[in-house]
Amino acid sequence: MKRAVMALSGGMDSTSLLIHLLNQEYFVDCVSFKYGQKHIIEIEKASENIIYLKNKGFTVNHEIVDLTSAMSIFHSALTTDEMEIPEGHYEEEQMKATVVPNRNAIFSSIIYGHALSIVSREKKDVKIALGVHSGDHAIYPDCRPEFYESLEQSFRIGNWDSEKVEFLLPYIDDDKSSILLDALLCCDELELDFDTIFSNTITSYNPDSEGRSSGKTGSDIERILAFKEIGRIDPIDYVESWEIVLENAISTELKYKDEYYKEKLTDIQYNVTRNSSTEYPFSGELWDEKRFGKYTCICCGHLLFTSEMKFDSGCGWPSFHSEHDEASIKQIEDRTHGMNRVEVKCSKCDAHLGHIFNDGPMKYGGERYCINSASMGFEERE
Ligand SMILES: [Zn+2]
Repeated sequence: MKRAVMALSGGMDSTSLLIHLLNQEYFVDCVSFKYGQKHIIEIEKASENIIYLKNKGFTVNHEIVDLTSAMSIFHSALTTDEMEIPEGHYEEEQMKATVVPNRNAIFSSIIYGHALSIVSREKKDVKIALGVHSGDHAIYPDCRPEFYESLEQSFRIGNWDSEKVEFLLPYIDDDKSSILLDALLCCDELELDFDTIFSNTITSYNPDSEGRSSGKTGSDIERILAFKEIGRIDPIDYVESWEIVLENAISTELKYKDEYYKEKLTDIQYNVTRNSSTEYPFSGELWDEKRFGKYTCICCGHLLFTSEMKFDSGCGWPSFHSEHDEASIKQIEDRTHGMNRVEVKCSKCDAHLGHIFNDGPMKYGGERYCINSASMGFEERE
């Protein structure tokens, strides 16, 4: 059987990773770390899942490694009693209080040593699986892929048999909801109960005495939105009902995004994309743009159109007869201003782009995407 070693925190990503590895027919050694974290309940949850998986006939090892004494000298809101766990959005500056200095390097060192021990004991190649994904990078620099590349390089130089150990990062390009969706699909294939598995996880850094999450810390909000995204109700207990925690998560996310866009965009870009305003005809930068290139959403960079789809309609706004194959632009009936129109929005970030009319060139189907310049970025191509 293929061998893998991984850190199992009891959170969502590492639990998904374990299920993913089992679905890939790995025999997995999980290591959970006690490091003085206030949310120590996560290790009990991890252990419950291991029991569930063993009862289902899977071969999984679980080691709990105690680093409390070594890491008690560190300073972090996750471990220090005098520091409060911050509430709010995951990417806000205050969430940096939840960084534990050098934590992933310490955990990885131990896991690497464990992997090398399996190599020498079992004479097998071993993968070190990491649940690292794109969403963690903003706050946690030790989740960046380049950090792991460099770490792997260092470990290689400093160890015999290191050619038999390799890092495996299956989620590196994924976000929280696609990881959760992967777990859902793997559970189906392995005939495991998704709700049981995820009720044995905890994401909150400050659960109450009954182990319930407030639903208000940055990591709670990320989790709640991931469940919403895949159309499931989170099976863990919150202090308040699912409806209330979900509503709070959505409004926190919207408020965060709104502030982010206000800072990132010009006034006209913000008003058009976030408040559905319309720029004056012949006023935008792109209505008369004739160069080759691609048009992307100004808010999120999503590809919308290419210059081959643009035509001169004479209306004063950039006009396109078709959208890019992968754009999946959202069409919404719009009855405002006494008109009956079809509004178009970015499928990725919901930015208002403009409207679709039926007076486009017939040879392309007759549609005219009438788009605000302010909603788009343009990248020239030769
Ligand atoms: Zn967008």
